[in-house]
Amino acid sequence: MAESGSVQNKVENVIVIGGGPAGYTAALYTARANLEPLVFEGFQWGGQLQNTTDVENYPGYPEGVMGPEMMNQFRAQAKRFGTRFVSDDVDRVELSDGGLQRVFLGEEEHRAKTVILAMGAEPRRLGIPGEMELSGCGVSTCGVCDGAFFKGKKVIVIGGGDSAMEDAIFVSKFASDLTIVNRRDEFRASQIMQERARERDNIELKTPFVAEEFVGGDGGSLDHVRLRNTETGESEDFSTEGAFVAIGHIPKSEVVRDQVDTDEDGYILTQPGSTRTNLGGVFAVGDVVDRTYRQAVTAAGTGCMGALDAEWYLRDTPPSPEAHWMRGGEPTEIAPKSLS
Ligand code: NAP
Repeated sequence: MAESGSVQNKVENVIVIGGGPAGYTAALYTARANLEPLVFEGFQWGGQLQNTTDVENYPGYPEGVMGPEMMNQFRAQAKRFGTRFVSDDVDRVELSDGGLQRVFLGEEEHRAKTVILAMGAEPRRLGIPGEMELSGCGVSTCGVCDGAFFKGKKVIVIGGGDSAMEDAIFVSKFASDLTIVNRRDEFRASQIMQERARERDNIELKTPFVAEEFVGGDGGSLDHVRLRNTETGESEDFSTEGAFVAIGHIPKSEVVRDQVDTDEDGYILTQPGSTRTNLGGVFAVGDVVDRTYRQAVTAAGTGCMGALDAEWYLRDTPPSPEAHWMRGGEPTEIAPKSLS
């Protein structure tokens, strides 16, 4: 504990870290269980949906909904039942196995009996001119989300892994022509996914090319992509109305790195069929766990699971006498196993 820092008196039942569909759903469920969750939603709360336009695949919105609007509604629903929010990014955490979980904003320390990690993931970007400027105007990082907007249009998918193949197969159901652009002649994707992509009549492969710039047209949306052949060095302007960047995702787990078990890519590991991590009282939900599905609805589903797991953990964890001796704290009716 930092000597000069301030320690919040209250020992929270649940701290949720993350302000996307998973975090807000965990908040909603724990709030309705009277656990008064405290959510560190981040400065740019809303997760990936904050950068999404129309969402047409979230059940219950037959007319579709804008991503930021949907996140507002998730948040408002959690707030209605008493969720408290901190719109700031957590600086560090000190996780324990069955003890108090500590979350720091600068030197300000918040303690909790359970923590639900819901920091999400972000798509890996190419980092080239036009990529962010034309995001939502022809450039996308989610084929499943945006493919249907490109009916009858010419599009490209950039990447050579399973995500690129999956996006290509999905988007090719709508697009007239689809070109997969990969920086190498070999593809990282599994054989079966490559074959499925190759089987489709309207999919072509273009290798070895890298994208150097996305260029908009007069209407402000994508007009063409500047591609460079990595062998010859020659550049060409490839005209396309849509570009899907599918070069992987990065789980936002830095803040808990080396404290909780993750795989080699940083995805937090949970026990099968649950949101329990290797640490008692620490749960993980949403895209920071999920490298496969990554949908708002699946994130929300695991957010619900995390809330129930936390609730059951609190219910089943015997009170510790030390809980009544928290420095500056209030007696807690249910406490973790140890307070180390
Ligand atoms: P990935 O396997 O890491 O593939 C990333 C692809 O993007 C590679 O082809 C890589 O090229 C390329 N790439 C990376 N940075 C690039 C850059 N700056 N410019 C151009 N190309 C770049 O990522 P993923 O496809 O998202 O898959 C991640 C994991 O999820 C994998 O284990 C995958 O099997 C799994 N997954 C499975 C399914 C499925 O089974 N249905 C679907 C999606 C994902 P290089 O090969 O040259 O590095």
